[in-house]
Amino acid sequence: MFPAVSIVVPIYNEFDNLIALVDRIDAAMRSQPLSYELIAVDDGSKDDSAKRLLELAATRPWLRPVILARNYGQSSALQAGFDRVQGRYVVTLDADLQNEPDDIPLLLNRLETDPSVDMVSGWRKDRQDAAISRKLPSKIANRLISNATGVQLHDYGCALKAYRRHIIDRVHLYGELHRFIPSLARDAGARITEVPVRHHARTAGVSKYGIDRTFRVILDLILMVFLMRYRQRPLHAFGGLGLWLATPGFLILAYLFIVKLMGESIGGRPLLIIGVMLVLMGMTFVAAGLIGELLTRIYYESGGGRQYYADDYVIDETGGPPRMVRLDAHAAREQTVQPAAASSL
Ligand code: UDP
Ligand code: MG
Repeated sequence: MFPAVSIVVPIYNEFDNLIALVDRIDAAMRSQPLSYELIAVDDGSKDDSAKRLLELAATRPWLRPVILARNYGQSSALQAGFDRVQGRYVVTLDADLQNEPDDIPLLLNRLETDPSVDMVSGWRKDRQDAAISRKLPSKIANRLISNATGVQLHDYGCALKAYRRHIIDRVHLYGELHRFIPSLARDAGARITEVPVRHHARTAGVSKYGIDRTFRVILDLILMVFLMRYRQRPLHAFGGLGLWLATPGFLILAYLFIVKLMGESIGGRPLLIIGVMLVLMGMTFVAAGLIGELLTRIYYESGGGRQYYADDYVIDETGGPPRMVRLDAHAAREQTVQPAAASSL
């Protein structure tokens, strides 16, 4: 029998937080009805986090330690957890106890009671981090990401989030894209809502990121916009830019050609270099777009990716007048109904 909730926590050098983390998550989950597992992913910690996790897990069957071979980064650690989830809900939070484990039941309750929501994202309304180095850049980033990806959230950076399982199955994290999970989830069809959650200052261990993440976030934002808009048609992105460059280039060269025909020398004209450069750059971009199209086909036709996600609906006749429910919601209910039926045999 699978647990109803899978909680995923990425851990990198959080030795001093682990006991409190595990105990507080357990206490929070005992206060609500759903069964759960805690998938604790050690991301190649240099301290004794992995050892401590194994000790803790020996007496806690609901704690599933996953020890990564080296430090791959927060996104990979989360993905390692996502690859192992068994529950119909997935919750993520940080290991440093900046998120409040007692808020988990709040998010789960929202998913349980509101079928119109697939993902509940925490919003650190009263954030306990340094104002200048953390809160301000984060505020700008939230605005930028919201506008660029079309998913309006106050707080992309909050690790405390809860999802219906099918969303997690559709999301694949690479690099440092964990910061963009709401955009990725939206792309995978999630209907997202934000719920204010508590936030604490770090009391043990240190933050793993510095101000240098700013440039990486900007680059990742470009990547996200590209992925969301042009993933299936890279030629439109590269080729479009290419034609905008090559067309004026061709016009310039045509003009110079006529000038030359009229007997004037064009060898020393700066316009010649500009024309040649524009045409060359333009053709290069078109070629890059065509290669992109080949890669897209290899990717999708080898079964690596899905071109679309869709929800299928079935008739639900369990109680009351027949109505249509989403297939995955139906399957989840059957999953939870099973044990009761089995015990009545
Ligand atoms: N983390 C990780 N791998 C890394 C860096 C961080 O698993 O390479 C974990 C870390 O242990 C914590 C979470 O990701 O649970 C968020 O990291 P941190 O608290 O340092 O980030 P901040 O809250 O300062 O943004
Ligand atoms: Mg933190």
